[in-house]
Amino acid sequence: MSNGMTMPGDRIAAAEEYIPGPGTYEKGGVIYAAVIGKVRFDDRDKTVSVAEVKSGRALKPGDTVLGEVGSVTNSLATVTIGGADEGGRIIGTAETGVIHVSKITDAYTDDARKEYRPGDLVRARILQASPSLQLTTKDPELGVLKAACGRCRLTLVNNAGRLYCGNCERFEHRKLANDFGRFTPGPRESDKPVK
Ligand SMILES: [Zn+2]
Repeated sequence: MSNGMTMPGDRIAAAEEYIPGPGTYEKGGVIYAAVIGKVRFDDRDKTVSVAEVKSGRALKPGDTVLGEVGSVTNSLATVTIGGADEGGRIIGTAETGVIHVSKITDAYTDDARKEYRPGDLVRARILQASPSLQLTTKDPELGVLKAACGRCRLTLVNNAGRLYCGNCERFEHRKLANDFGRFTPGPRESDKPVK
């Protein structure tokens, strides 16, 4: 991420070089971030950890935040806020907000499950901070930045402005942020171009 934050599932080190510490997990010889936060390499004891971003600053309406989609039902998606990027400064909470289906997109949608899936990384804006945290992703710069295939969990790639799984050879729909291509890799040589 451009602001130095890792997202869950980001590769952060090779397991032969570091020992996975708090906030990370190891799979197939690779250490991944398990939480949203900042990576710390400790070269003395050869551990790598991810410190979850915390802050005493309260979220307020109008703040733009990054978060991970949790559960999704017909009428809403829950999002665990991982941080807010304000003038290069990261603020963070572990609060969970909701995006109501009517606040997802300007285009018509009748089902939040058609727009978001658990594990999606989204940028959202706070509509209301209390008594409940309400979010919107209606604006062009809001929505999914990174997502995994619903079938095989491979990170979907940006194929001509759409999310594509080269493994399953299928597209998936999301309400995308207009700069999602900066966060989502382009298709590899092995990915079949799809017309
Ligand atoms: Zn797939």
